Amino acid sequence: MEHPNESSQDRPPSVDRLARAMVDTGLPHPLLVDAARAAVAEGHSDGAAQRARELAEATARALLTDVVNATGVLLHTNLGRAPWRPPAVGQQRYTTLEFDLATGNRGSRQDRAPALLARACGAEAAIVVNNCASAVLLVLAALAAGRSVAVSRGELVEIGGGFRIPNVMHQSGAKLLEVGTTNKTRLNDFSEAVTSNPEMALTLSVHQSNYRIEGFTESVSIAELASLDVPVVADIGSGLLDSSCPWLDAGPPKWLSDEPAARQTLEAGAALVTFSGDKLLGGPQAGIIAGRADLVAACSAHPLARALRPGSLVLQSLQELALAYLARDGEAIPFWRMATIPVDELRRRADQIAPHLRADTVSVPGGGTLPGVAIPSAGLVLAGDRVAELRAGSPPVIARVANDATVIDLRTVHPDDDGVITATIAALTPPADPGFNG
Ligand SMILES: *Cc1c(COP(=O)(O)O)cnc(C)c1O
Repeated sequence: MEHPNESSQDRPPSVDRLARAMVDTGLPHPLLVDAARAAVAEGHSDGAAQRARELAEATARALLTDVVNATGVLLHTNLGRAPWRPPAVGQQRYTTLEFDLATGNRGSRQDRAPALLARACGAEAAIVVNNCASAVLLVLAALAAGRSVAVSRGELVEIGGGFRIPNVMHQSGAKLLEVGTTNKTRLNDFSEAVTSNPEMALTLSVHQSNYRIEGFTESVSIAELASLDVPVVADIGSGLLDSSCPWLDAGPPKWLSDEPAARQTLEAGAALVTFSGDKLLGGPQAGIIAGRADLVAACSAHPLARALRPGSLVLQSLQELALAYLARDGEAIPFWRMATIPVDELRRRADQIAPHLRADTVSVPGGGTLPGVAIPSAGLVLAGDRVAELRAGSPPVIARVANDATVIDLRTVHPDDDGVITATIAALTPPADPGFNG
């Protein structure tokens, strides 16, 4: 049914005719009407049909869609960070989101994926919220509103687009108590703050996800913070579950260096850790709060928990991911599979696509994690800037330009999409030349 205001009597017949001539685009009628109206308003009396079609096709292309990530950035912030789609989406059905199959009574949505993730990182309990920013906000609101939280001046960070620790602290109702200095903070700074401040609820340690302080520096370890009288909350950010990576046959890749992991941070004495679902965890957008059962329960009981809770699509997706971690099946997690694929394998794929364009490249973890880390990779390099042409393909291939050449990094391309790369390169006019000498 059309909306009454959009019935054909209310607009020039030409708009309606233009719209109806574009049904083959697959767009719903109101969007075709918008395109037709815009074309007419632009004053195209002759070429209106063609212009309307251009606008309709632009609308269709602007919808959220799958792309081939050939940038070599494993966690590409603009491309949805980690690639993850649970294997079995299945048919349209209801779920046991808040239903206990054993008793037939009401259940909790926080009983499955969060419990499995807690199991995978050795936490007593966990809950899942919308993202890591929400996780930090909820922890502070539930455990420290109206009281003080001590944070090192070296960790008052901004991460991503506007996640600023002082702002989140303010929103939560907790009082930020800055200790130490930008480059050096010692245990003594924290212990003085805790002993002189009876209002102190927590100490908060924030991982330096996207920056490094170099030179003369000192910081306080989780184990040291845990020696004080208040719980330690560690915002580790990236969501590495276990620094020994038991889900990878070859163990942790070298470039992981000393990225903090949930299991080891809890073992070191953190009462809670918070992390993202879509960074090194490799899953959907989510935030995880894991650690002491009483503190997790206090977070669950806070009214904000309901406002920040995820829906069944995210929880089901995280459940699949957690099961893969528990099965130590890194091959089932696209982020880890891509991150650890040997360079020789990528070179072999490049040779199958276009041997004369093959080149070694450099991938990065991305997503505001592991700054400065480079992962050896391979792919194809074309002369000149061809990214707009690659982006115009279907599905679009997103590449990058470096030194006046276009780099297609195969580390972030699923092998099933090699055919898309082959076809997209073959369709380029003029044909692609090697973008390097040699
Ligand atoms: C990325 C990050 C966040 C924000 O995570 P989102 O899931 O994007 O909300 C918070 N803290 C740290 C340390 C991070 O690295």
